[in-house]
Amino acid sequence: MFINVHTHHPSNSKEVFEIQNKYPTDIDFSTPFSVGIHPWFLKKETLEIELFLLEEKLQHENCYAIGECGLDKAIDVDFNFQKAVFIQQIHLSEKYQKPMILHCVSAVKEIIEIKKQFSPSQTWIFHGFQKNKQLAESLVFNGIFLSFGETVLSKSDLQNVILDFPLDYLFIETDNSEVSIVSIYQKIAIIKNIEIAALKEKIQVNFNTIFKK
Ligand SMILES: [Zn+2]
Repeated sequence: MFINVHTHHPSNSKEVFEIQNKYPTDIDFSTPFSVGIHPWFLKKETLEIELFLLEEKLQHENCYAIGECGLDKAIDVDFNFQKAVFIQQIHLSEKYQKPMILHCVSAVKEIIEIKKQFSPSQTWIFHGFQKNKQLAESLVFNGIFLSFGETVLSKSDLQNVILDFPLDYLFIETDNSEVSIVSIYQKIAIIKNIEIAALKEKIQVNFNTIFKK
């Protein structure tokens, strides 16, 4: 099985297990999903109802994780407000024992500070990682998993990050891209110089450890 930990466009392929990203206000929750309040769409007026719907969806049998949620310094949403809503979602992640899928733009330091502050029992997965080796190392040092996507296919800097990256902390995703998850697995297997079967097995082990359903 190819595990795709975060996608907005499910392939519905039999050889793929995929966690589709959902918003609390979505209607269809009939397949495995993660659900969260994304910082891009934060609004004071809708927060209360979204938190209510989020809590309801977290109890759904197809819910695997909370998210994507997190912090983003590249948007025009008050950062303290972002932080407050992120922290509310950390509490929900702990309450419902769901791992968290993180959206983080230019806020790695803050994410790590907040993680230290709350020492959560649930695992955090930094999705769509495309930064440098130093940031990758500091996230892993703080127990955060990294999920890599389409950029791996083309960006040589990121390929170098993966070369030294511990398989114990790795996930693979397609996110918003339409590329096949299989092609990203193939690329990572080549970079790591391992068989694709071995990579699949390793990701499955990571998945089973974190997503104890
Ligand atoms: Zn996404």
